[in-house]
Amino acid sequence: MLRNLCGPVPLWQSPYAKMKSDLGFKFAVCSPVCFPIINPMLNAEIIAIGSEMLTPFRVDTNSLWLTERLNALGIDVKLKTVVGDDEARLEETIRDAMKRSEIVISTGGLGPTEDDITRKIFAQVLKRELTLNEEILEKLRARFAKRNMPMPEINARQALVMNNADILPNPNGTAPGMLIQEGKCTVVLLPGPPREMRPMFDNFVAPVLKQRVGDVLILRRKLTLFGLGESAVDELAAPIYTKYKNPSTTILFKDGQIELHLTVQVTNEAEGRQLLDEVTAQLYGVLGDYLFSQSDDTLEQVVGALLRQHNASVATAESCTGGLLAGRLTEVPGSSDYFIEGVVTYSNEAKMRMLGVSQELLAEHGAVSEPVACAMAEGVRKLAGTTLGIGITGIAGPGGGSEEKPVGLVYMALASENGVTARKFIFPGDRQFIRTLAVNAALDLIRRKLR
Ligand code: ATP
Repeated sequence: MLRNLCGPVPLWQSPYAKMKSDLGFKFAVCSPVCFPIINPMLNAEIIAIGSEMLTPFRVDTNSLWLTERLNALGIDVKLKTVVGDDEARLEETIRDAMKRSEIVISTGGLGPTEDDITRKIFAQVLKRELTLNEEILEKLRARFAKRNMPMPEINARQALVMNNADILPNPNGTAPGMLIQEGKCTVVLLPGPPREMRPMFDNFVAPVLKQRVGDVLILRRKLTLFGLGESAVDELAAPIYTKYKNPSTTILFKDGQIELHLTVQVTNEAEGRQLLDEVTAQLYGVLGDYLFSQSDDTLEQVVGALLRQHNASVATAESCTGGLLAGRLTEVPGSSDYFIEGVVTYSNEAKMRMLGVSQELLAEHGAVSEPVACAMAEGVRKLAGTTLGIGITGIAGPGGGSEEKPVGLVYMALASENGVTARKFIFPGDRQFIRTLAVNAALDLIRRKLR
């Protein structure tokens, strides 16, 4: 048996990773590094209005959706605020927003009830009168009549519009929106329900904003990597991306993987691609080994494509990951072309019975050990008759750790016709995160073997 033992490689033990682990990885994992995108990008600000968004039961998804749309138009979102149905706070928020942003978009609070204060407060700030629009009132009445219902008089409020506002029709609801140009600021009032807000933005607001933005084009590229901590990536990548304001770079840590988001703002697509290629090539120069995708491909998709390309097949023998690796591999449509079999051998008895791991090996080294990971990989490869067999054994915690074998210790091995290679990892975090990292590492082991 040929062994290429990488030995103890505490890949995730950088002081930063340790700190994150100590902090509880869950709330320390996402730290965007943002650089301003060059002018002439317009600045927008979103105000989500509604007390329900300040409870644990409703999430302000409108702002996320609008941010994506605005970014696609070449507009930078600088601030998002959630305000309850509080007149004084809303007034203050609108005043501040209009001072600092060129585009202010609100959602919600356009309903007919007393707590729907958006119209009134915007009119107050903009010093515009609210007048009843007979045409809208007629449409509201007709809408109710169509359902054989009398219109409650309070709904007439929804026909109140500000002077000189463009009315934004709402075919999916009762509240029309408004668009007002106040000096340099474009103010947009949209309804809260997403099914009303979204088409209204796409049909009536986006064309106006597009005209204001001009011919600016936004192109994005996502580079994804695994195997380095966030601080290590930043140390390698920062000397490159800080040279460029355009593209701007954002680094995100997500599910144990690191994403570099490059955003370029240009007036010409070829020029944008060239800029992205230029930065990408330099980032590959320093992170090449670790980068597995420069599209939206997941690690399992990349591994799947490589297995297919090599006409290779794989089988998995999992202990601490409990089948998660097989799950990830089979998330890819068409994975039956290369994924043959997966076994979850949680107990020693199962490892012996299913994979032929010897009792002596288990007794001598323990179930969480490199020799057992190797035996599992070889056992499942033989069992399934595949090109590759992978074995994973470790301690996901929270209990079961010792000084010699701490929680987070995971051994994995990859068997092929050339023998078996093994890796030792010490992953940080809670049970769920350790298992996620272990699956990522296993997929990455296959990727590195085949690339
Ligand atoms: P309506 O005329 O339907 O009352 P509105 O503009 O007054 O419209 P709200 O009453 O503020 O809207 O919100 C209605 C519903 O829309 C909320 O209960 C919520 O489900 C949804 N909604 C409001 N704002 C948001 C938001 N920011 N993100 C996601 N959903 C939202």
